[in-house]
Amino acid sequence: MSREIRINGVAASPGICIGKAYLVDTEGVDVIQKFSIPEELLSQEVNRFKTAVNQSRLELRAIIESSKKKLNGHGSILEAHELLLRDKMLYARTIETIQEEQINAEWALKKVVAAVKQIFREMEDQYLKERAEDVVQVSDRILRHLAGANSVNIAEINKRVILVAPDLSPAETSQINLERIKGFVTDVGARASHTGIIARTLQLPAVLGASTATQQIQNDDLIIVDGIDGSVVIHPEEETIIVYEEKGYNFEIFQAGLLRQSSCEATTKDGIDIPVMGNIELFSEVVSVKDHGADGIGLYRTEFQFVGQNRFPSEEEMYTHYRDVVEVMAPKPVTIRTLDVNGDKALSNNQRTAEPNPALGLRGIRYCLSRPDLFISQLKAILRAAAHGKVRLLLPMISLPSEIDDTIELLDQAAQELTSEGIDYQRDVELGIMIEVPAAAVAADLFAPKVDFFSIGTNDLIQYTLAIDRGNSEVEHLFQPLHPAILQMIRQVIRVGQKNKVKVYMCGEMAGELEYLPILLGLGLDELSMNPQAIPAVKCMIRSLNIDETRQFAQEICACESSDAAHDLIESRYGALIREMTTPDPNEVPLA
Ligand code: PEP
Ligand code: MG
Repeated sequence: MSREIRINGVAASPGICIGKAYLVDTEGVDVIQKFSIPEELLSQEVNRFKTAVNQSRLELRAIIESSKKKLNGHGSILEAHELLLRDKMLYARTIETIQEEQINAEWALKKVVAAVKQIFREMEDQYLKERAEDVVQVSDRILRHLAGANSVNIAEINKRVILVAPDLSPAETSQINLERIKGFVTDVGARASHTGIIARTLQLPAVLGASTATQQIQNDDLIIVDGIDGSVVIHPEEETIIVYEEKGYNFEIFQAGLLRQSSCEATTKDGIDIPVMGNIELFSEVVSVKDHGADGIGLYRTEFQFVGQNRFPSEEEMYTHYRDVVEVMAPKPVTIRTLDVNGDKALSNNQRTAEPNPALGLRGIRYCLSRPDLFISQLKAILRAAAHGKVRLLLPMISLPSEIDDTIELLDQAAQELTSEGIDYQRDVELGIMIEVPAAAVAADLFAPKVDFFSIGTNDLIQYTLAIDRGNSEVEHLFQPLHPAILQMIRQVIRVGQKNKVKVYMCGEMAGELEYLPILLGLGLDELSMNPQAIPAVKCMIRSLNIDETRQFAQEICACESSDAAHDLIESRYGALIREMTTPDPNEVPLA
């Protein structure tokens, strides 16, 4: 009898991979059973608990020792965890509970933790209140040892496997060892999340938001990940494997065909050149940007040098990274975006990330302006890198014109400091802002006189305009780039840009989706920036379009009253062309 099961999720990154599943529990152990322990086995159960605590202690010590080197001797939150392990409230009371109630160690610990957490939460002092979270983390560590599971460091996985996890943070995803991990599947997550974006940049097939994946898939199960259609096949039959091998092969051949033409310019049929740029998170992705024929870097998400580390990089480290990117890309431009931490990109060593609503909190420019010491060091690093090529400076999450003024002041201060330190730099860099908060789109004319360019960040613009969490698969269907409100905002920003001679670019994921290309060109965007993987097909399709026609088409689309109506119109006019650019048929590589 066939054991084949198929589950669906979000097609987050195209491609097919077939291999053994490797389950990673990135969220700790949360399913705890209660069972009674016979009296004669109680001391054994207590010993099992003591061993788990001891293993947790050794594990913590090892982490503290290794991070001490990196932290120059600074203590860390882990030392507090180490103390908590020995805390009478937690340790002695769990042993007492096992003995008195004759129950298993996991359940006893869970009961004690619930009580201790309550005590912390009722404390007046905010700091102590927040320590309740530490108690939970410490107990998770003990529980993992009780379950015999080790905490997983994704960077260290050294088998050729497909990761299956409840969730993967952007920081974890960016640590994936590309030679080892073939692809991944998560229970939660959506296409526009940073995890989805990184999967596409890394060219790893990924299905996110496949809600029951970790329940249905066991370690070492053979699975197929179809990142093209967003499905996962568990225990595939022989015939299914053959079908998917062929699908994967066709996809790769088709991609390779597109890639061969990608180094040529993207010029429309009526002779307009459209710069097509790449988005990167890390220096290592520059290779992919170049290989895919990008005309420069339209978005360098510098926060990925910070996330997942337990400290802030120094000015020198940032400078070295930026300079390397700028030199490799020269004379093509590199758009360096200043730190856009928080939201779903929390800094692990940043205590301020415990915000109730991080997407609306101290994110991006707000965080930077609250930490001028850190911001200045990044601005200095950028100005220094600008001396090695063509750099544009981009500010994230701008919602007030004064945030630009404050940044310009800090830029001047950064330049002065570099002058007095006798260090080479270039102050004359183009300054731009992300248009990703609805306020900046609606009131774009207030921002235009202060900048050289706008870059529309549709990932957040859609999230904030339509009030949907971009990382939540439950509301994925509401993430609609063709929503009339979004199209009107884009049109409005471009009009303001044209009136004020401010260039308007787009670096959100919408820029890399073929379906939207005729509208974006027709509305008059000056440049598009995207996941490197998307560049070849976008360039190819641009060569098949006529700007005059797309202008007319964009007007028709903007008159649509719903995203469905707009979608149907695109399908009727450009559906065949889009399929030609995306259908993996090895015999029909489009030649534009
Ligand atoms: C965006 O919001 O569209 C964007 C490009 O920035 P990020 O995805 O890094 O938030
Ligand atoms: Mg954004």
